[in-house]
Formats: sequence, structure tokens, C-alpha cells
Amino acid sequence: MKVVAYSIQAFEKEFLIKANQKKHDITLISNPLTEATVGFAEGKDAVIVFTNDDVSQGIVEKLAGFGVKFIATRSVGTDHIDKPAAAANGLKVANVPMYSPEAIAEHTIAVTLALSRHLAVANRHSHEFNFKLDELVGFNLHGKTVGIIGLGHIGLVTAKLFKAFGCRVLGYDIEPVTDSAVELVTLDELLMQSDIVSLHAPLTDETRYLINDATIALMKDGVMLINTSRGGLIDTVHVYEALCNGKIGYLGLDVYEHEKGLFFGNHEHDEHKDSLLTKLLSHPNVLVTPHQAFLTREALQEIAFKTISNLDLWQQEKCVGDACVCAKNCRVVAKGSAQ
Ligand code: NAD
Repeated sequence: MKVVAYSIQAFEKEFLIKANQKKHDITLISNPLTEATVGFAEGKDAVIVFTNDDVSQGIVEKLAGFGVKFIATRSVGTDHIDKPAAAANGLKVANVPMYSPEAIAEHTIAVTLALSRHLAVANRHSHEFNFKLDELVGFNLHGKTVGIIGLGHIGLVTAKLFKAFGCRVLGYDIEPVTDSAVELVTLDELLMQSDIVSLHAPLTDETRYLINDATIALMKDGVMLINTSRGGLIDTVHVYEALCNGKIGYLGLDVYEHEKGLFFGNHEHDEHKDSLLTKLLSHPNVLVTPHQAFLTREALQEIAFKTISNLDLWQQEKCVGDACVCAKNCRVVAKGSAQ
């Protein structure tokens, strides 16, 4: 297959090359997919994209016009892709349905511990040779109640890790879940009882702004909120207000509502900086990482292998199985031929 891969960072190249083994003719480019770069897809069979790429209706129509038949995203989340537009234009879409959930779960724990033990402040002080302890009093995770919203691959691994710290772990999902690590409760119960709330649901019409004025009001005073899922699950303005009035005590974000065009690049010298993010970052109990929860060598290799395997299957005119995220659900249509 002739393929163009957008938004390829230097650190990804070796993993993609190893997974591809020269099977597909892949052009790797660092630019994101936009109106300005969609032309690179002319004459290609497939595009490989990531969460920061623009795969909206207009772009999808252009891709179809260039002869592209397949869109493979190197992510679990597919909220950046207009799937109905892809279906209407005859393009198939695949994701990486699961890769190293441990990578994201471990990052969730890392952010939680960094906040609970003020590690970012401590490290900054140490670099200044300030070794006073005054601002560094933390709290134990042991004995705390943690609420996990979204009990899929990542949510369940995260639940087990918190359990190992001696936490009581509550869980909420819209689908039935049976796992002994979590006590299943309603969303309201979870919000009312948890000292730490961690988000692990996909971004959908139902989950957009799941954390808003009303749901924040249900939370415990001083709660810690962690989001390593998608930025849109949080109404960030209301979360910032809750931080300022102390309702939310700690905020850990690996994803941000307005991260597109910002995260994955160096914006140190930008004249105008995102004012909401600037305000959040000036708060002592906020920790922001740049959508890096997935960023381990193990996860990168799995992502690369799965992405290339999706291309292999499409080339053999086979269904990509669990990786099929086509709006018309061609996985079901092609069930007979699926492997
Ligand atoms: P998954 O599909 O395995 O699990 C998601 C779970 O959320 C499912 O059990 C689903 O039933 C549940 N859910 C859906 N709507 C819900 C709702 N309204 N309320 C409660 N639960 C709901 O997905 P996953 O692989 O565990 O990924 C979880 C999240 O992590 C996704 O948002 C994904 O995009 C994100 N993610 C982030 C990174 C990162 O680097 N930060 C990396 C991978 C995945």
C-alpha cells in the first residue's frame, strides 16, 4: 500500500520502521493533517493519523477525492475523526483498540502521587537549593477512596494499581462490568464518596463536560481530579473556578480541552498563550503533562505493530476486527470474512 503518515514525531520512526519491515511504502511527515497538508495524500491508498490531526468532514472529502480508501489512527480515541463523513465517502477507519493500558494507568498513578506529595514543587525548590519542607506536607493514598469513571482497558488497570496502594476503589461505567477490584456504584455515589476522581471514559456526546458545575458540586471538598482520558470530558472553566474556591483541591491533567495545535509542540516563544491554561498552570496544586500518558517504548511498539497490521489486513481485503471503528460498522457487515 502507498501510505502517508502524518504528525510523525522523531521518537516514533524507529518503531514504525521496525513494524513495517518495508511491506508498505510509507511516507513519514512531521506536519499534522490540515487543509494545507492534505495534498500529501494524493495518490495514496491510506493515511495514518494521530489525535491532533484534522480529520473533519472537509478533509475526509478531500482524502476521498485523492483516492484514499483507509484511515488508520495510531490512537485508541477516534473523536478527532468524522466517522459518518468517512462512511459516506467510502473510507474505512481503524484505531488501535488496546495497547499497553498499563502505560496510561501508570501515568495516572504518577500524576496522582506527584500531586499528593508535591513533587513538582519539591523538585523546583531543590534546584534552587531550597530544602525547606513547609509547602510539602502531603497525604497517604492508603485508606483513601478513589472513583474510576470508565471501567474499560485503562480504567480497570488503574483500579488495580490504586487497590494495591490500599485504596477503596469505586467504579462507574454505562456498560456492565464484573471485576473484583472495583465496587460498582452510581455516578452520583462515586462523586460524593471519592477523595480522588480519575476519568477513563472516551469523549462522546454523552461524556462531553461530564465534569461540570453540577457534578463538581457533588464532589467532596478538596477532591483530587485526574484526567488522562480526553480533555473534553471536563468543563475546564468551571474546574478552574472550583480550584480557586477550594472545592477541587488538586488537578492533574494529561489532556486539555483546547490541546489541539498546542500539545506536541514547543510554544515557549508564542506571543499569545492560552489564557485558561496559563491560569491553571499558575495554580500550585495543578499538574499538567502534554498528553504523554501513552508515551512508553512498550506502548509505541504496540501502536506501530497494530497500525501496520491494520494496513496488512486491509491490503488482504480482510476486516481489521476489533480495530474497526467505521461508522457503518463494516466489522459486522464483513463478519463472515473476518478473522
Ligand atoms: P475502553 O473503550 O477500553 O474503555 C472506556 C470505558 O468507558 C468503556 O468501558 C465504556 O463503557 C466506558 N464509558 C463510555 N461512556 C461512558 C460514560 N458516559 N460514563 C462512564 N463510562 C463510560 O477505552 P480505554 O482504552 O480504557 O481508554 C479510556 C480513555 O483513555 C479514552 O478516552 C482514550 O481516548 C484515553 N486514552 C488516553 C491516552 C493518553 O495518552 N492520555 C492514551 C490512550 C487512551
